Amino acid sequence: MKLARVQTDTGPAWAIVEGETVFRLEGSPFEHPTKGERIGDLASTKLLAPCQPTKVVCIGLNYRAHAAESGQEVPPEPLMFLKPPTSVVGPGEDVVWAPGSERIDYEAELAVVFKKRAKNVAPGAYKDYVLGYTCANDISARDFQRGDGQWARAKGSDTFCPLGPWIETELDAGNVRITGKLNGEVRQDSTTADLAFTIEQLITHLTKYFTMEPGDVLITGTPAGIGPMNPGDEYEITIEGIGSLKNRIRK
Ligand code: MG
Repeated sequence: MKLARVQTDTGPAWAIVEGETVFRLEGSPFEHPTKGERIGDLASTKLLAPCQPTKVVCIGLNYRAHAAESGQEVPPEPLMFLKPPTSVVGPGEDVVWAPGSERIDYEAELAVVFKKRAKNVAPGAYKDYVLGYTCANDISARDFQRGDGQWARAKGSDTFCPLGPWIETELDAGNVRITGKLNGEVRQDSTTADLAFTIEQLITHLTKYFTMEPGDVLITGTPAGIGPMNPGDEYEITIEGIGSLKNRIRK
């Protein structure tokens, strides 16, 4: 099932996408959602970010080839940082340049959306807490990341967390292809089988420290091929079995 949030005449609404058609979601997206009346065609419906997290927990250096291109190694335990809710934007929304930055990068990532409150999740139990998966772009002001000593504005500025296009609830995310294209040209092309720490390991680890709420998001790290964007550039992330997320950056 593809769970989405869409703009309607009466405001944002949860929806279910089937093929080219968008239906209203009845009930809670987190518990037994069912299909309601037809809203419209997918092509003419504005998709919003597919959830409204209270926080986005992010993992750094979780693909060996990306760690190598950054001149680092995969750390002995997952490296975590946070993006605030105000960093989240939806499909097609603009990423806005952080004032004073000289270099802003794209990073294609698999995102995990939580279904229910999660704390101290036991190994083996993580699937009970996963609503589904979507695409994320971990926008990164690389100069601020290097210079600031911590990553708050480098990774958490407004619009620095595009999410979407929807939450796929039936994906086996352990080995799916993840690609990123800058203005149509492939820059990142990998598979989630190359994650250094698996989704299970990440959820077990991060919930020792953070209570995840329904709709909260984990983004799992980016594969090799990162690079800068210029104002006007568009980055498109495609994850096999989910779909594509496109966003343009502007000053
Ligand atoms: Mg990242």
